[in-house]
Amino acid sequence: MLEQSNELSAWDRDHFFHPSTHMGTHARGESPARIMAGGEGVTVWDNTGKKSIDAFAGLYCVNVGYGRQKVADAIAEQAKNLAYYHAYVGHGTEASITLAKMIIDRAPKGMSRVYFGLSGSDANETNIKLIWYYNNVLGRPEKKKIISRWRGYHGSGVMTGSLTGLELFHNAFDLPRAPITHTEAPYYFRRADRSMSEEQFSQYCADKLEEMILAEGPDTVAAFIGEPILGTGGIVPPPAGYWQKIQAVLNKYDVLLVADEVVTGFGRLGTMFGSDHYGIKPDLITIAKGLTSAYAPLSGVIVSDKVWQVLVKGSDKLGSLGHGWTYSAHPICVAAGVANLELIDEMDLVRNAGETGAYFRAELAKAVGSHRNVGEVRGDGMLAAVEFVKDRDDRVFFDPALKVGPQIATALAASGVIGRAMPQGDILGFAPPLCLTREEADTIVAKTADAVNSVLSAL
Ligand code: PLP
Repeated sequence: MLEQSNELSAWDRDHFFHPSTHMGTHARGESPARIMAGGEGVTVWDNTGKKSIDAFAGLYCVNVGYGRQKVADAIAEQAKNLAYYHAYVGHGTEASITLAKMIIDRAPKGMSRVYFGLSGSDANETNIKLIWYYNNVLGRPEKKKIISRWRGYHGSGVMTGSLTGLELFHNAFDLPRAPITHTEAPYYFRRADRSMSEEQFSQYCADKLEEMILAEGPDTVAAFIGEPILGTGGIVPPPAGYWQKIQAVLNKYDVLLVADEVVTGFGRLGTMFGSDHYGIKPDLITIAKGLTSAYAPLSGVIVSDKVWQVLVKGSDKLGSLGHGWTYSAHPICVAAGVANLELIDEMDLVRNAGETGAYFRAELAKAVGSHRNVGEVRGDGMLAAVEFVKDRDDRVFFDPALKVGPQIATALAASGVIGRAMPQGDILGFAPPLCLTREEADTIVAKTADAVNSVLSAL
């Protein structure tokens, strides 16, 4: 076993080009690597047998937990019966049609159709094209700019990496590309003037957005995209009143709203969609991750009736939609999606995400919230984050070179709990599977407190 694992490690260093990984340190064997082998519930193990609680559900995606027989069976059954058929020119399968119906039944009001892709990135790529097409059909060829937010995360393709507002995803890639611009991040803890209330900061964000729309020219601004709660940018819930004020500005200038629910869709905030949770009324919704709990790659764009009516006019005028992937609505992936959404209902996971998530955050705040180097413990539903600061009273941040967040995540992982050092700032993030129990939450909290205390006391 050890010999085989040494050989695998060598192949890994020599041949596997990993995403989001330091290429040099990995190839030279200077950074830790882990070969994962199995999972059950919230627990994963590697090929040495070491077990961990996965308190980030992979990349906030394994919402039903690992090892669910029902989803595995649905995949196997579909693979045996019909592993593939395309969805072009009106083709479907029982699972693709059923899943579209199940999604619309669960989606916020006013949603009409689902376009299936494979990743959150390609779904946002689809969104951009649909937005441009929509305005061309409406005879507004100038209305094409898309406003995103600093610290937003929407993927890492050329256009979707441009939508993303994190430096790591732009550096040396010549991004962001026009016609995408970024507005203020709704990050009260870091960005708000200390004299401002949350409501005032929300108004400030809405004013900044309006200034940007006016400066760019309202006739050139097509859409605004945002995650209901900032995810990869730091797990930051919106300040009070934020979405209502943003939405008022968008309505005023006839700007479409894309809710990127790749993380929040299908229960993570304790509601089926984050849009329902915060009272957002989107024109387009991006979904992925929790749609299949990552048992198979599947994403989607949920299109509102308002947008759909225009798209239909477009094809009546221009012919078939010139957009699609070979693997759109892949039968195996949509079969996984149907089983997964059924399982979410059967296991009552949306309710558990709200209730156990609230318990987890409260316990986390009790355990580490008063540490002098903890600036904030925050989150919503089954999402939580701890932000570390040099001085909490004056909001002085640590020198990023100290890598305080990554050090704490590493210490935590060594103790058998996987959290995530968020990519910008010293922020430890948690997004456990939605099936988390209170006992498992207690273990995560206790081990986090140990990791926080040991790393911070050694600084
Ligand atoms: N949108 C959001 C909100 C995300 O969090 C992510 C991935 O984390 C994406 C889009 C991109 O999804 P993918 O990595 O599947 O391309």
